[in-house]
Amino acid sequence: MRDSPDDFINVTVWGSSEFINSLFNKFQIGSVVEIISGKVIGRLVDDPNESFVPSVTSQLKITVNEGSALIQNHDSDDKAQLLPLLNLPTKSMDTLRTLSYALDHIEELKDQFIDLLVIVTFIGEVREIISRDGRNFKCRSFEITDKSTNKTISLQLWDSEWIRLSEFWEPRKTVLFLAEIRIGYNNFKKRIDMSIARKTLITENPNISQAMELRLAISNRPEFTPTDPFSIPNLKNITSVMTVQQITEKLNSTPAENYERIQFFVILYAQITEINLDSKDGNVLMTKCALCKRLVQKDQDSCMNLECPSGNGSQKPYNVVSFVVKLNLKDDTGYLIGCRIMGNAGEQIFGCTATEFQELNEEQRLELKWQFLFAKFAVRIQILGPTSTMNRAVYNILSMTRIENAEDLFFDNTTKNK
Ligand SMILES: [Zn+2]
Repeated sequence: MRDSPDDFINVTVWGSSEFINSLFNKFQIGSVVEIISGKVIGRLVDDPNESFVPSVTSQLKITVNEGSALIQNHDSDDKAQLLPLLNLPTKSMDTLRTLSYALDHIEELKDQFIDLLVIVTFIGEVREIISRDGRNFKCRSFEITDKSTNKTISLQLWDSEWIRLSEFWEPRKTVLFLAEIRIGYNNFKKRIDMSIARKTLITENPNISQAMELRLAISNRPEFTPTDPFSIPNLKNITSVMTVQQITEKLNSTPAENYERIQFFVILYAQITEINLDSKDGNVLMTKCALCKRLVQKDQDSCMNLECPSGNGSQKPYNVVSFVVKLNLKDDTGYLIGCRIMGNAGEQIFGCTATEFQELNEEQRLELKWQFLFAKFAVRIQILGPTSTMNRAVYNILSMTRIENAEDLFFDNTTKNK
């Protein structure tokens, strides 16, 4: 918590999980609150617990114990004076490092914390992850750069509050002050591994001249491509419109011996000419083991993987069903054959979960199919070029928005944009 540009204090809440969760749901980053009857204690020198909390200026800390203290919203005139504090960096700029400094000194900075002022270059879609022991997580990756380097660095958000707030970030515009980012080294990928630790504080768009300078410096840079070639951007950041012909030309203009696989994201205004939603072969759905992610064969109950608790029978099978729908698209310039809709995108597009779809009878599937066939959509697609081992491009459909007053939008957008 902060109540002036210079004064920060850590607050710890103790109580039942209901109490903690109710506070967590009631307040957000930026909430202006009052603490009533909190217990104030002096911080200890070299307290090992302090490695998990942000660095603060106060020599004290506050404990809120369920039953004897409370936190509530503060709603009076002085609220307006507190709100601007949200956009002031949480630490002095004197200890700021640059990304190029971090990249050049990985060995010596390993397991240390540094402060950075960076600009966001890429914001990923939220991903839902099931861990090997069956727990559900949400995660969003994003990437950053600064004036000192042309490289971008990838970071992950695991905290639900920051996943929510990052929905509003914009590539090349959002500047972040990252206090106490943890530096590590990824032995597998042979590169720096920065992470948001429990100590880390993020200030969005800090109200300082350096933030404006950073935005300006980055504005001349060419397009940033994410370091992980398979990252899916936040869909609202896909704005480039292309026709089928333009997509094909772009794919063909990339030399075959090109070392890196070409990837781009586009909006295509198109009509569905074929979709296998009523497929008799039952290949519209795929069943995977939630724990080890292996395919579950049609005649099996589990992954049959002896290394996996689901497969070796030590635990009830935990399978996840997802969509693998194939379709063809058409616009005035040509056909895009062999597109696919997978996973969560399918649930969004068809308005039902894969498990609900599994229950539909033939007639209902046919009915659903006819809601899509020949209708016009704004289709957001991830396009992956061919590789030496895979000779065709992949058209991965991320979302489809129905175009209501078809003719206007359809012609308008396909003719004017590249
Ligand atoms: Zn398994």
